[in-house]
Amino acid sequence: MSETQIHSTVDLAATATGKQCGHLSIPYSHNLGGWANLPVPICVIRNGAGPAVLLMAGNHGDEYPGQVAIQRLWRQLTPDDVAGTLILMPCLNPPAAKASTRLSPLDGRNFNRCFPGNPNGSVSEMLAHYLTTVLFPMSEYVIDLHTGGRSMGFLPCAHMHLVPDLRQRERMRRAAEAFLTEVTFLYADVAGTGLLPTEAERQGKIVITTEMGGAEMVPAGIHRQCQAGLRNVLVHCGVLRGKELARAEAGLGPARWVQSLDRADYRFAPESGLYENCVDLGEPVKAGDLLGQVHYIEQPSREPAPVLAHADGLLVANRGPSIVGQGDCVACVAHDVDPSLFA
Ligand SMILES: [Zn+2]
Repeated sequence: MSETQIHSTVDLAATATGKQCGHLSIPYSHNLGGWANLPVPICVIRNGAGPAVLLMAGNHGDEYPGQVAIQRLWRQLTPDDVAGTLILMPCLNPPAAKASTRLSPLDGRNFNRCFPGNPNGSVSEMLAHYLTTVLFPMSEYVIDLHTGGRSMGFLPCAHMHLVPDLRQRERMRRAAEAFLTEVTFLYADVAGTGLLPTEAERQGKIVITTEMGGAEMVPAGIHRQCQAGLRNVLVHCGVLRGKELARAEAGLGPARWVQSLDRADYRFAPESGLYENCVDLGEPVKAGDLLGQVHYIEQPSREPAPVLAHADGLLVANRGPSIVGQGDCVACVAHDVDPSLFA
């Protein structure tokens, strides 16, 4: 695999200690900037022995709570707060964040489908390659904060794949529970390959991901939950000094693990039209319940098309924008998990 074309203004070498703020420069030649670069913010805080943690948000541009939480850590943290190495990337996709879009407006790519990347590809592919070959290998923990973005609402949760390595799986479970969400979620990839967490998992990293709400909002309650959970996870990893808060101390019961591993758990719009959510996030559903329905703006007398629950469960995600196209995911039903899955 050939060399990266990305230049870092911060020194990633283990000998560079203290706090450095800068950016990764991705070559991006366009009509008004023939020799231009796309800067992506990065902050490295290194202080002595300890784990290396890579913390990211803005993988999808229109997902903002994680971006705000990491920006706050960027401003607040000093080397004295850190044991080991903490790499902060509050926004992996600045053009998409500024445009309120999931995909990069520069190359049309979904960054979370670009892995392992290409050093000679588009800006998204070049950055994915840099993470795969430079930042993942030097990190023990990889944290990637998401929301449902513009298209989905999500019950706030930490989530993970059921990785085959049992030791890695158990460490990921404990890290996810340290995020202090009421529900923790096992998910499957129903929409393509080339995900960031999949590549990091393949490299044996302890991967922690979240879905903190949705739409383009940073609601106060969700933001507080995201910031507090993130801090607790960083203490759990050992990269942030302090005492880890046990779930009981945070007023929470034992983690409730749910999963959506079957394709049928993801419900899709049967037709195009105007979608009505009929169940709120976090509500229990029974097989056959009406999750939502598609209305027809031009044919009010036509009965709406139902979207039904295929099984009993918990509604963890629903549709954001009311106008749907046939095949849009409009609901996700999760089921309580047998804890033996982690054994
Ligand atoms: Zn996302």
